[in-house]
Amino acid sequence: MGARPCWRRPQAPRPKITRVTTLNADLHCHSVVSDGTLTPEALAARASSNGVELWSLTDHDEIGGQARAAAAAEAEGMRYLTGTEISVSFAGKTVHIVGLGFDADDAALRQGLARTRGGRGERAREMSDDLARVGIRGAFEGALKFVGNPELISRTHFARFLVESGVCKDTNEVFRKYLTEGKPGFVPHRWATLHDAVTWITDAGGLAIIAHPARYGFTPNEEYALFTEFIAHGGRGVEVVTGSHSAQEATTYAGMAQEFGLAASRGSDFHSPDESRIDLGTLPDLPPALTPVWELLADRIR
Ligand code: AMP
Ligand code: MN
Ligand code: MN
Ligand code: MN
Repeated sequence: MGARPCWRRPQAPRPKITRVTTLNADLHCHSVVSDGTLTPEALAARASSNGVELWSLTDHDEIGGQARAAAAAEAEGMRYLTGTEISVSFAGKTVHIVGLGFDADDAALRQGLARTRGGRGERAREMSDDLARVGIRGAFEGALKFVGNPELISRTHFARFLVESGVCKDTNEVFRKYLTEGKPGFVPHRWATLHDAVTWITDAGGLAIIAHPARYGFTPNEEYALFTEFIAHGGRGVEVVTGSHSAQEATTYAGMAQEFGLAASRGSDFHSPDESRIDLGTLPDLPPALTPVWELLADRIR
């Protein structure tokens, strides 16, 4: 048995987190437990030195890094929320739902995430076969060299292999030319349903949040359906300020948050010092009129 998970450790009461939109909260990033390149400890150190006060590690479909992240946050003097980013299929596209502040021991959540991860190995083999058809050989084995968690092989690992082997100059070029819909190496995949992802998070005591809504390219009708169905299932938040939103997009989704009565989240979506445009803790503040997700999660913050 390893150390007792720190979300179970009895704790002296800590002060309630400040309920203000100017808090330096970074509630979205990735470690080697999914498709980031830093360990949970290195991320915590980087977040702390960039001034983050409230942090969450949100690995894709995986919570295996939570105990390490929570312990590292405590060692760095940061407050912490448990986190994950669940892959969901909705209206023919992949949507990401961030969960924060859940009980990481919850059995249904753990089983749901394991099931969501389940198809990734087979998908990766098919991606490799697809790339071989355009002359790129050995992509499965090549991508595996970048994988930190054998259950979590992702397109990002293939992208790193294509850069390493000189096919593309950076990962952005990889996604533009390969691995996205209609391009070689893209394999459609069925992820969790929106209902299941939101239910796993909320039934485990957490808050479900629509990640980076500007990235999906939905029509207005599809986006309306996403927001209304998400709320009907119990979803409560939307990312407004994220590493992948422009200032204009942040303004748009601040308006959507108010229109739909959703709390607002803030997170860099940091993956790697070499790949991420926005560093941990360096985002603009949330617009002041919004309810920050950390206000709704005050009792779940460690
Ligand atoms: P997967 O879960 O295997 O489908 O991989 C999704 C991951 O690929 C995302 O979480 C991002 O890290 C990365 N990704 C997706 N699209 C892009 C893009 N256009 N540019 C850079 N990274 C991307
Ligand atoms: Mn990612
Ligand atoms: Mn995402
Ligand atoms: Mn992410």
